[in-house]
Amino acid sequence: MKILVTGGAGFIGSAVVRLAVRRGHEVVNLDALTYAANLENVASVKDSGLYWFEQADIRDRAALDRIFDKHAPDAVMHLAAESHVDRSIDGPAAFIETNVIGTFNMLEAARAYWVSQGRPDSFRFHHISTDEVFGSLGETGQFTETTPYDPRSPYSASKAGSDHLVRAWHETYGLPVVLTNCSNNYGPYHFPEKLVPVVILRALAGETIPVYGDGGNVRDWLYVEDHADALLLALEKGENGRSYNIGGENEARNIDLVRMICDHMDRLNPQGAPHDRLIEFVPDRPGHDRRYAIDPQRIRTELNWRPSVTVQEGLRLTVEWYLNNRDWWEPLYQRDGVGKRLGTG
Ligand code: NAD
Repeated sequence: MKILVTGGAGFIGSAVVRLAVRRGHEVVNLDALTYAANLENVASVKDSGLYWFEQADIRDRAALDRIFDKHAPDAVMHLAAESHVDRSIDGPAAFIETNVIGTFNMLEAARAYWVSQGRPDSFRFHHISTDEVFGSLGETGQFTETTPYDPRSPYSASKAGSDHLVRAWHETYGLPVVLTNCSNNYGPYHFPEKLVPVVILRALAGETIPVYGDGGNVRDWLYVEDHADALLLALEKGENGRSYNIGGENEARNIDLVRMICDHMDRLNPQGAPHDRLIEFVPDRPGHDRRYAIDPQRIRTELNWRPSVTVQEGLRLTVEWYLNNRDWWEPLYQRDGVGKRLGTG
């Protein structure tokens, strides 16, 4: 299959690109190369003969039309987005422009192309989204695919808007779509402003490790390569028009996750131990959702998907990756503000 992946130079998109090429798919990576992108993330596949790169902005409809015509993809996996909640609080405009207008442009370009191809049933527009669209949970309960949307940050509201557009293009125009909503990802090539790499890199540097509020916010954590596997499965086997929640069934309070990372650091970087002495509680961010939890029964039972690693194993692999790939993260970490910002997804 030839797949047009948007945002393929980012964290999750690059995991999708690497896995899709390993599985023999042809991949066209469409990315604007914003601050969050890094073509090093896909260096391992660039000479595979199955990979093409197009630098383009999803806010530019004409560029999208050209890329659809040039590459004639069988499917789209749409991951390009502004993705950092804290940045969405500081500057929401880019989130509306890329996540809402950009998705609208992608849908219109995909629809025009799909119509020009004779409306094949086999075409898929796979929209990749987040569990944050469902809002915040109390102590109990889980998000299912029918949970009402209740986004509470500019980021999650922009993603919710894009999800609604994708469903509307399916209902109104018949565009074949599949949607997935996933919990917090972590793993290799994660930009060092997100919680897991911030903790690893600040612990390594002997700097304080900031934890928002009381550290009691709960997230479900999924290893990025397991997410990429679930995404390809949903693309290939997912039912037209259906959405699937993807989660690791690994709920953890932020403070417990941070302590797990510190334990791995103690073993792998013993000279800095104990790393949990560096933990410092900082004022909470506004509107910080208390708890997200995913019920992944639909993708488990209908598509027979399971994550391959536990959060303990995934965190060990991630800590090892950062310790062994200093050349990748050091220039980013030293960039202004990065490593000082803190996000939980
Ligand atoms: P990321 O920020 O690492 O990567 C986003 C990529 O999109 C970058 O390569 C960037 O250059 C590109 N991009 C941004 N604006 C663009 C534009 N206007 N035109 C073209 N390309 C543009 O993000 P990520 O963490 O890899 O997330 C990918 C997708 O998965 C997003 O849609 C996000 O909402 C969703 N998601 C993320 C998580 C998570 O935990 N990170 C969880 C669930 C869903």
